[in-house]
Amino acid sequence: MAIRFGPSGNSDSFYAQGYKKSVQAPKWIAEKGLTAYEYSFGKGITISEGTAREIGAEAARHGLSMSVHAPYYINFASPDAQRRQAGIEYIRRSAQALSWFGGSRVVFHPGSCAKISRQAALANALAALEELSQTVLADYPGITICPETMGKVNQLGTVEEVVALCRVDERYLPTVDFGHVNARGQGALKTKEDYRAVLDCIENGLGYERLKSMHVHFSRIEYTAAGEKRHLTFEDSQYGPFFEPLAELIVEKKLEPVIICESKGTMAEDAVTMQQIYQRLLAEQGGEDNEGQDETINTGLR
Ligand SMILES: [Zn+2]
Repeated sequence: MAIRFGPSGNSDSFYAQGYKKSVQAPKWIAEKGLTAYEYSFGKGITISEGTAREIGAEAARHGLSMSVHAPYYINFASPDAQRRQAGIEYIRRSAQALSWFGGSRVVFHPGSCAKISRQAALANALAALEELSQTVLADYPGITICPETMGKVNQLGTVEEVVALCRVDERYLPTVDFGHVNARGQGALKTKEDYRAVLDCIENGLGYERLKSMHVHFSRIEYTAAGEKRHLTFEDSQYGPFFEPLAELIVEKKLEPVIICESKGTMAEDAVTMQQIYQRLLAEQGGEDNEGQDETINTGLR
C-alpha cells in the first residue's frame, strides 16, 4: 500500500461541469492526480448492484481504491439489543455494496452516549463489534472495518475509545477524523505535538502497522461547546485544523494512510491541496537525506 488521497463524494465543481452520475467520478478524480474515493451511505444504502459494479469498474480502471461510509444512524452504543442488531445488518449491507465496488474499507460511527454513561456505551459497542467479527467479517473476509473518531462530545468516539474498539479484532483499523478530534476538543489540534499525541495513542494501543495504514478523514469543522457543528472548506481558516503538522508527521513516521477529504463542496480540490503539501514535504525530506549521503565527514549532529 502507498499513501492515498481522495474525496468523500463528489465536489460541487464536478456537477457544475455538467457531470451527473458517480460512475463519471473516478475518471474525473483520477485526472486530478488523486487515488482514493469514498462513497457515502450516510443517509442510507440505496445503490443498486449494477450501478455499484459500474462505479467499481471505473474506479479500478483509473487506479482508485474505494471505501464506503456506513449509515449515520448506526448506534452500537445503544442499550437496546435490537438497535445494535440493526447496526450489524447495516454494516453487512455496506460490506456487500463495498464488495460490488471492489473496495476494501467500511467506515462507521460507533454510536451515541447521550443517555448512558460512556463506560456502558463502550461496553455495548465492544460487544457489538465482537459479534460483527464473527458474522460480517466471516462472510466478507477481505474487508476492513474502520470505526471513526467523532466530533460531538456526547458521541462515542474519542481517540482512546476508537483504539479500544479496534483492539477487538486485528481486522479493525481506526478512522481518525482530525476535524472531529479538533472540534470535540475545542480546537485541540494546533501544534505538531498535538497531532503526535493522537498518533502515539494509536501506535501504543494498536501497533505501528495499524497506525501506518489507518484511515483518515480530514476537513475543517466549525464547533461549539458541544463539539462539531458543520463542515467547512479549506477557504475557512477560523476553526482549523490545519494539515501541515500532520503531513510532517506522516513523512517522518513513513505512514501510508488513506486520507479522505470531507470538505463541504470542495472535497476533491482540498484533497489535492493536502496531497501537494505532503509531496512538497516528502521532496524536502528526500533532499535532506541526499545531502546526508554526500557528506564525507559525519558530524553526528543530524
Ligand atoms: Zn464519518
